[in-house]
Amino acid sequence: MRCIYCDREMKKITFTSLFLERDLLCIECRRMLKVKRKKILLGELKTEVFYEYDGIFKSLLLQYKECCDEALKDVFLYSLKDYIAIRYFGYHILFVPSSRKKRQLRGFDHLELIFEGVKLPRARGLRMKEDLIQEGKNARDRSRMRGNYIYEGEKLNKVLIVDDVITTGSSIIGVYEAIKDKAEHVRALSLANK
Ligand SMILES: [Zn+2]
Repeated sequence: MRCIYCDREMKKITFTSLFLERDLLCIECRRMLKVKRKKILLGELKTEVFYEYDGIFKSLLLQYKECCDEALKDVFLYSLKDYIAIRYFGYHILFVPSSRKKRQLRGFDHLELIFEGVKLPRARGLRMKEDLIQEGKNARDRSRMRGNYIYEGEKLNKVLIVDDVITTGSSIIGVYEAIKDKAEHVRALSLANK
């Protein structure tokens, strides 16, 4: 088997590794994609971030999202799925929606696929009012994004908002604004931040 990033041949499967989750990256690449587990605040919202948005993470995510390389879906939460399920026990996952256009282009929902196998229930009923594609760069676009989410699902106790990359934070904050009156406790989780 070859490393999905650098294409180097990986070591043969040993007896013990049979019992471990299979990594698509070789040891060297996995070392470069280091989990940081930063805690940041978006306004009042406590947010956990796993990676820096640079180097190997950036190219893997671009390849996954823009080249629609579905095979990469298990790279990002390798060895983190159980951690999330335990750390956020009792929470419902609420994905920040991607634009319909992008989703159709890819043919899959990139976030839901990454979090496949994380044993937490999913919250449904969040949608975008307008099909905006990405976070705007100026203040006007950002405030448009913040007001662009509407939650029509059931009331929940604990909600974990999940996104892939935080740029300005306006998507997560927008989702938070939409959900905060319908949930007792809200936290956020992002793979990376810029
Ligand atoms: Zn490699």
